[in-house]
Amino acid sequence: MSFVKGLKCRECGREYPVKLLAGCEECFGPLECDYHYEEIAKVLKREVLASRAKSIWKYRELLPLESDPKIGHATGGTPLIRAERLGRHLGIDNLYLKNDAVNAPTLSFKDRVTAVAINKALEFKLEAVGCASTGNLANSTAANAAAAGLPAFILIPQDLEKSKVMGTQIYGARVIAVNGNYDAVNRLCSQIVDRYPWGFVNVNLRPFYAEGSKTIGYEVAEQLGWHAPDAIVVPMAGGAMISKIHKGFKELQRIGLLSESEPTRLYGAQAAGCNPIIDAVKRGSREIRPVKPNTIAKSLAIGNPADGYFAARLIPESGGWGEDCTDPEIVAGIRLLAETEGVFTETAGGVCIAVAQKLIQQGRIKKTDITVLTITGNGLKTLEALDLATPQVIEPKLSAFEAVFGGASNVA
Ligand SMILES: [Zn+2]
Repeated sequence: MSFVKGLKCRECGREYPVKLLAGCEECFGPLECDYHYEEIAKVLKREVLASRAKSIWKYRELLPLESDPKIGHATGGTPLIRAERLGRHLGIDNLYLKNDAVNAPTLSFKDRVTAVAINKALEFKLEAVGCASTGNLANSTAANAAAAGLPAFILIPQDLEKSKVMGTQIYGARVIAVNGNYDAVNRLCSQIVDRYPWGFVNVNLRPFYAEGSKTIGYEVAEQLGWHAPDAIVVPMAGGAMISKIHKGFKELQRIGLLSESEPTRLYGAQAAGCNPIIDAVKRGSREIRPVKPNTIAKSLAIGNPADGYFAARLIPESGGWGEDCTDPEIVAGIRLLAETEGVFTETAGGVCIAVAQKLIQQGRIKKTDITVLTITGNGLKTLEALDLATPQVIEPKLSAFEAVFGGASNVA
């Protein structure tokens, strides 16, 4: 049932059969899956998609599995919310939120990528899986490995939020905290997969793993009634997701499900304390200068982003731009989204909101643009980032309540 042609190097174009491979053997460039699009176009029609259940597997012809998926049946199909109240606050008319804070099973967009990678690990009959993670990927890899019956080795930087550590251990995964930042963790994982017959989802399973992010693009287009948005704001860590959402839109055009006359401007969002891709975009360069992360947005704290070069190239090519924001702006973004739309996002979502606000103020995103903000994770995972006042304690008496509340005229 697979429509996969093989793997292709994004740098030099060299082609490979489907196999476990972290990068191009010729130039070390990243690999991605290539498909028989003409064949897919014959079978994947709008009516077919409309008849299928909501999940990432709805678009299975465009995903790199050879067999039916064994896990991840509840993943994807997250809401696209029309955000009128937030839109009014930001001063734009057509604002939407792609809400992966309620993705399944672990409340972040990473469930999309691990669902693909761990099904692939089952197909390759690997003995164990693992990942280098800033948190959300750890949760998701551990949960999906448990569902697949595979042992999991999860390597994380030692300063991760407690909720993300526990939300990984609970699935029975072996969690190893490394004394170093994400980039050090990632290097160690590359050495591990060289030695052991395991699949690390974002290392040697990466070409398959990354394909899962395309489903955000497919879903947004279908949820907008088969239209691509004018603008999409995407938080960036390694920089893969923004290129994959773009690939998703392009593939839909290629198989005739989207009009080619509807290009989407891509807008990248990073925290000021870890902004190597935004820095490159603003310098008009593709060359990434690695940074040492220092931000509360730990899920975006990748100082040397693997796909940074491609993101820095694609963003200006699409007519988009990038911005960064400070830690206080991130917290303000989280609160604004929660208070206007009832959506509680983690720090990466706060980055997305704060950056969108700047891009609108700069006039880069226009009032009438159909704009999608990508909310990638759930706020319950990063409570440490917030410092809200302790609720006032009163005696259980109506008079005490009224003394605090101050009467009905104060309800607004
Ligand atoms: Zn190559």
